[in-house]
Amino acid sequence: MSQARLHPRTIEAVKERADIVDVVGEHVVLKKKGREFVGICPFHDDKSPSMTVSPAKQFYYCFSCGAGGNAIKFLMELQRTSFSEVVLELARKYQLPIETLDGPQQERLRQQLSRREQLHRVLTLACGFFRSQLQEPEGQAALSYLRQDRGLQPATIEAFELGFAPDRWDGLLQHLQQVEGIAPTLLEAAGLVVPRRGGDGFYDRFRHRLMVPIKDRQGRVIGFGGRSLDGSEPKYLNSPETELFEKGKHLFGLDKAADPIRRQDRAVVVEGYFDVIALHAAGISNAVAALGTALSSQQITQLCRCCDSKRLILNFDADGAGVRAAQRAIGEVEQLALQGQLELRVLQLPAGKDPDEYLKAHGAGDYRSLLDQAPLWLDWQIEQVLSGLDLSRSDQFQQAVTGVVALLGKLPATAVRSRYLQQVAERLSGGQARLALQLEEDLRQQVKGQRWHGRSSRWEQPGDAGVRERAEAEILRLYLHCPGERAAIRQELLRRELDDFALQHHRLLWAAISSLEEDNLGLGRLEAISRGSEAGEALADLDLPRLLGDQLLVEHSDLLNRLTPLLEPSEVQRASLEQPQLQLRGAAAVLERQKSLKRCRHLLDAWSSQRLETLERCIARLLESPSASGAKTAADPALSNPGLDMEARIEALFAELNRDALQFQKLYYSERQHVEHLDSQRRSRLQEVSGPEAAAPVDQLPA
Ligand SMILES: [Zn+2]
Repeated sequence: MSQARLHPRTIEAVKERADIVDVVGEHVVLKKKGREFVGICPFHDDKSPSMTVSPAKQFYYCFSCGAGGNAIKFLMELQRTSFSEVVLELARKYQLPIETLDGPQQERLRQQLSRREQLHRVLTLACGFFRSQLQEPEGQAALSYLRQDRGLQPATIEAFELGFAPDRWDGLLQHLQQVEGIAPTLLEAAGLVVPRRGGDGFYDRFRHRLMVPIKDRQGRVIGFGGRSLDGSEPKYLNSPETELFEKGKHLFGLDKAADPIRRQDRAVVVEGYFDVIALHAAGISNAVAALGTALSSQQITQLCRCCDSKRLILNFDADGAGVRAAQRAIGEVEQLALQGQLELRVLQLPAGKDPDEYLKAHGAGDYRSLLDQAPLWLDWQIEQVLSGLDLSRSDQFQQAVTGVVALLGKLPATAVRSRYLQQVAERLSGGQARLALQLEEDLRQQVKGQRWHGRSSRWEQPGDAGVRERAEAEILRLYLHCPGERAAIRQELLRRELDDFALQHHRLLWAAISSLEEDNLGLGRLEAISRGSEAGEALADLDLPRLLGDQLLVEHSDLLNRLTPLLEPSEVQRASLEQPQLQLRGAAAVLERQKSLKRCRHLLDAWSSQRLETLERCIARLLESPSASGAKTAADPALSNPGLDMEARIEALFAELNRDALQFQKLYYSERQHVEHLDSQRRSRLQEVSGPEAAAPVDQLPA
């Protein structure tokens, strides 16, 4: 079968997305061993695991037969298929857009590629020119700025290929045009010159500036940052976006930092070029900068590729702008951090210093220990919410509570959230234990409310009610008849936020149990046991079935036939209480999963109706817009830019209006992830109880 050729964009996207561990792991059982994975090699008759898979390097290698390569090569060899078939297969698997090339397109692409090579060459020549100018008499002020003010050694200046753009309108232009014979239009495409306003000729974009070349991952120059030397604005001038230089895509310093990041298994992200240069000069060579933008997901992916444990430390300036930059950067990383896919820390240097200043005053050792102590992202965020607030004033206290609730409401994993709720409550209560408990409960309710409680029956599916009733009854029966497990059950229910039973008679029974226990132990101790800060033997001493039987029989004789099976289980039911811990974990996971699934359906509904609304608003705006007939609307840049065609305008408008829907989309995916996590818990429990065949999912996720 003759196949159209795949567009390099598709191939790139597949290479970017296909993780070697993921791909090989589908065919070979992989075991983690240090930073790598090992498994039985499928390419020879392997007895002991000879194949190593390295997530950091994204390749596999067999020490016995020498097979090795990347994810695509693995599938080509294993399935004996062609390169493009494998790329297609992976593109479908990861739902990436598949683009192909026809004849003329192939030709255009060849030209584009050779043009990229030309641009790389032009930028390399420009870099050489700037470097040579730094050694000329004209460059002496710039050189002494680097040596004296910045304290840089010649070796560092050399390593980062720093240079100087002379104070002339055509220094670079003349040199490259006359000496190297390069057409000004090519220089313009490389972002080095700007056309004169009259339309006649060009002039240098960078004049009287210190020049810092920006390189791609492979170390090729793709643009420049220029720092002004005479106080003229802007202080930092970057290359414009060009065919080679896309700002959200590259990280300054990654060409040098990739290996150190891999070795130290963590990456430091700072704000400016000179922070990176100063850190590298001080021996902290796992640092990169985001090039004046917030961290994009592409940049994060690049960093994570180098870093097995996916540990990022953001170090931004401590001033207001730096904090805002850190907040912006977090915005993009947040979802990944929330789902536990990367470990994000924030380092804020004392006394408003940037890394460069801090290193000069304190040295690399102190900086390293600050890196080691940098708080986790969420702790830092909470600190930001609380800092500067006077918690003894009720308005500011309320502000703190609102801020914390908004923050913790985003956390999907309830165990982590519980821990933070406790921590924040202690902090807000100013050390009063009693108040802390009340506050924690209050915060818990608020956070839950924010997350959509999941109680409405609208998103229920047939069979849900029966499953829930069985699981709730199972938990209550365990509580009543396995006294030794009571403390564990209370902790599990609190941790998973399952202490609100759905069925009326279950709620009634749970309330009766709790009030009996409170009467005997006191509320404070009961709560301490639920939170695991006090051992729970005291709970085991109460003969709950007897006490409850007497009480409920009198007060709620109408519910008697529903309560009796719980208070007095049959022989069969008693026999099933033999493995209480396993049973508890399983029943709790079933309940939590059901809640999560309902939340998923709710979010999916919210997401799609929001999308529909967006579409309607989008169409309305386009119909209203006079720019459809060529006039300009100042208020709406997406519509007023005449350079954009209709399709791009609609896309821009849609993106702008679609933000709310995207929020639902994010929440939905994070909830789904949580359901998957619960499923894996449930599967392992079922396997313990009854073997692997019982592990099939009971019901399906919403598609
Ligand atoms: Zn082998």
